[in-house]
Amino acid sequence: METKAEEHRAVVAKKPTLTPKAIIHQSFGSKALYTVEEVKECRQTERPRLSIQQKGPCLYRCTLQLPELSVVSGTFSKKKDAEQSAAEMAIEKLAIRPVIDDPTPQEAWGSLVARISYIFSENFLSSLHPLSGHIGAALLRKGDLCGSIPISVVAVYDAKIFSLCKCINPEVESNPFLVISFIMRATAELSGSLVTSEQHLWIRNQNPYSQDIVESLMKQDYSQECIQVVAVRIPSSVEKSVEAVTLHISSKEYYLDIIANELGFEDAANVLISRNLGRASSETRLFFAAPKSYLLDQSSKLPNGKETHHFEGSLNVRASYLSGQDIIGDVILASIGYTWKSRDLFYEDVTVRSYYRMLIGKTPGGIYKLSREAMLTAELPSKFTTRANWRGSLPRDILCMFCRQHHLSEPVFSIHPSKAVSASEMFKCELKLLSRHEDLIIKCFPEDSFKKQNDAIQNASLKLLSWLNKYFKNIIVPFEELDETIDFDIQIYSRNIFRGISARQSLHNGQLNAIELHKILESICANSSYIISGNGVCSLKIGGPDSGVCPCSGSLACMSYSVSLIGEGENIKEMIEVCNDFEFEVGVGAVISYVEEVVMQMSVGQSAYFTTNSLPDFIFASASDSAKIMSLLSSKTCYMEYEISLTKVAEPMEDRMEQALFSPSLSKQRVEFAVRRILESHATTLLDFGCGSGSLLEALLNYSTSLEKIAGVDISQKGLIRAAKVLNSKLVTNSDAAVLPSVISVTLYEGSITKFGSRLHGFDIGTCLEVIEHMDEDQACLFGDVALSYFCPRILIVSTPNFEYNVVLQKSSMTNQEQEDESDEKSLLQSCKFRNHDHKFEWTREQFQQWASDMAARHNYNVEFSGVGGSADVEPGFASQIAVFEREWTPEDNMLKEADMEYHYNVLWEWNSESK
Ligand code: SAH
Ligand code: MG
Repeated sequence: METKAEEHRAVVAKKPTLTPKAIIHQSFGSKALYTVEEVKECRQTERPRLSIQQKGPCLYRCTLQLPELSVVSGTFSKKKDAEQSAAEMAIEKLAIRPVIDDPTPQEAWGSLVARISYIFSENFLSSLHPLSGHIGAALLRKGDLCGSIPISVVAVYDAKIFSLCKCINPEVESNPFLVISFIMRATAELSGSLVTSEQHLWIRNQNPYSQDIVESLMKQDYSQECIQVVAVRIPSSVEKSVEAVTLHISSKEYYLDIIANELGFEDAANVLISRNLGRASSETRLFFAAPKSYLLDQSSKLPNGKETHHFEGSLNVRASYLSGQDIIGDVILASIGYTWKSRDLFYEDVTVRSYYRMLIGKTPGGIYKLSREAMLTAELPSKFTTRANWRGSLPRDILCMFCRQHHLSEPVFSIHPSKAVSASEMFKCELKLLSRHEDLIIKCFPEDSFKKQNDAIQNASLKLLSWLNKYFKNIIVPFEELDETIDFDIQIYSRNIFRGISARQSLHNGQLNAIELHKILESICANSSYIISGNGVCSLKIGGPDSGVCPCSGSLACMSYSVSLIGEGENIKEMIEVCNDFEFEVGVGAVISYVEEVVMQMSVGQSAYFTTNSLPDFIFASASDSAKIMSLLSSKTCYMEYEISLTKVAEPMEDRMEQALFSPSLSKQRVEFAVRRILESHATTLLDFGCGSGSLLEALLNYSTSLEKIAGVDISQKGLIRAAKVLNSKLVTNSDAAVLPSVISVTLYEGSITKFGSRLHGFDIGTCLEVIEHMDEDQACLFGDVALSYFCPRILIVSTPNFEYNVVLQKSSMTNQEQEDESDEKSLLQSCKFRNHDHKFEWTREQFQQWASDMAARHNYNVEFSGVGGSADVEPGFASQIAVFEREWTPEDNMLKEADMEYHYNVLWEWNSESK
């Protein structure tokens, strides 16, 4: 404890510019949590003069919690020192000391020699440090090897050595194995006390440690005879599959010797060790053989001499991708080693499944899948609507994780005010990715603005993640071509991102031809797009009665599902993923596209079954029994089977809000308004523009009207299919003629209402409820022009939300649970610009009346304004505003000919009274 405190002070004194806490703050901001506790034992000897009630000065200990790591300081008499010490420990573990603080190469060289000397001192052996654990364990080795530890161990387990080497040569960052040669040379300067071998990469003390120390180490608990650790072998040939191996380590052996044996060597000195993988605190590393040429050319001059190593052997593409370092030959992936926490050897099983999870955890989509524990079902959503609808890790956290995985700095967000849609303030977010050396790599600045700063950050993060995800899915597509697919402002400053995403770099270094490259990438990339574009869904069956409660864009669906792998020949079924309560937002791509497609065809209470025979690699990231999966995959035919039950659908926020405030609901009131006007008009033909799932058409069938011909048009097939189901059951199943004396035909057309087809000409009355806000503003104007000049119904009813009314909806929309979830702000809606994320705009009363009046004037119609929900005379007016256009002229027949700009509306469903 004392030594650490000393060291800490020395470090602070050397670097007056930035304290450890300041450095931690730069990297983690408010995510760094310091907790200082009093340590009970008080030092009696100090300050005896104080009164009796007052306790002596207590000691303090600080726990620093960071997202991926927590450290506990030693004890200090000042809280401040305890905090600084904890920060210093964290900096050391994370190796995040900024470059500016580092000494010159010459100074670093001196410090490196001093550090190595310290590490092999007796003092150090009794401290708690991963390296002291190794040195202790190495004393158990037999014969000449007793007390010698591999240089690779010194190179990876001491962050200080690593950062000093980085000052000597920054290339260390991309080629960490350079550190080994620096240590070799530094050790050579300590030839009085340390011994190294010319042929082998190890170091040991010239003189043995004192007997006391050795004995005290020996006394430790070696009662456990032998441990078994599951690890994974990653062969360098991609033709060979990754498989489990078990390491048997007896208490009298040095674990690295056992790993060396597994790799086919006698001696641990031949083993190189990668940096840790995954979380900063993980002990998971790759172990592999040092190439012969690693034996160094001692003649070149340091510190400025250039180091070059020509590796022989073949690049291990999978391992290189995983670690971001070039790795040659076969590899053992294991989670084992000495830590800061205990003198005992730490170990944990690493299964083939863990290997695949690490692999897919390097892609944005994979990080999301892992956060949802749904490798074969979840997909990184394409759109951030509101926090309340997001499930799984938030985009910002995924981006931070991604940056850490690829050895980049934490992303930098800057909030900008944006021009407000209403009086309230809105925010946009600019986002930067920087390299470890703070070089700008990518800057992006999406246009979208949000009421909450946090939502702007999440949105910008997701935009960038989606783009990066495309890169990972199409790793063969040149970076430049990807640029063309962007629909937001992004600038790439440095192609150095290639260095971060090192699969690519490794592949460039290795001489692989394009075909091999493709094969390898298919095997290493967690790529869902090729399953989808492959065979997709086969033999879909949906069972159970149609409850009519269907998911639609913006609703939250809840399903239970299971995915199994089936070997057809052997008739074996292996369950690989199950979840009973999987909730997701519909319409934003939060699940794999074929799952969403199927769910969109279901109603609550129904079950679906389908198979697909394109199998993604990440089956292995999901299934626990990888050996069984492997054998199934090698059987003749093999496919995946999905079983899904839709258990619940929560309506989109717009509907929830409308229901919370109005009774009957606002949508019902709109329909009733339209029905009333239709009855009054005595119209015989009606066309519903943007009929959706047919709520108006269905309602009309409940009334005895003068209507003979009814039609609906919509651009969405899904909506129309639902409308067809509803109308069909009403007309065919309950063909109670008494209710519908007049209706002769009902037709549903698929097409856009901005186009005119002469088949749809000549309807008496047109309705267009809550549709225009789903189109861009210019399209809404085009619709107005086409409707009033070509379709020219006698009456046209158009409704759309009144933006000014949103404040009222906001106040009433929350359930208690939502209030808790969103306690930082008042309302769900505040995180979203409009009532529904599918809305392209929402107009104020003035904007809507302007639009409608212009239309009416241009096409010689009269227009009157009305609405439902609220009242015209009470601010802020109606919740839904409605314009009723009436034609003041009679269209001539020849006009029709002129308008014959044939657009072909597809008839999707049709009913007529003769066919009854
Ligand atoms: N009128 C229905 C549906 C409103 S939702 C009701 O009140 O319940 C909006 C509908 O407009 C959706 O079904 C959507 O598919 C449709 N829509 C959006 N743009 C369209 C276009 N250009 N042409 C036809 N329909 C469109
Ligand atoms: Mg709408």
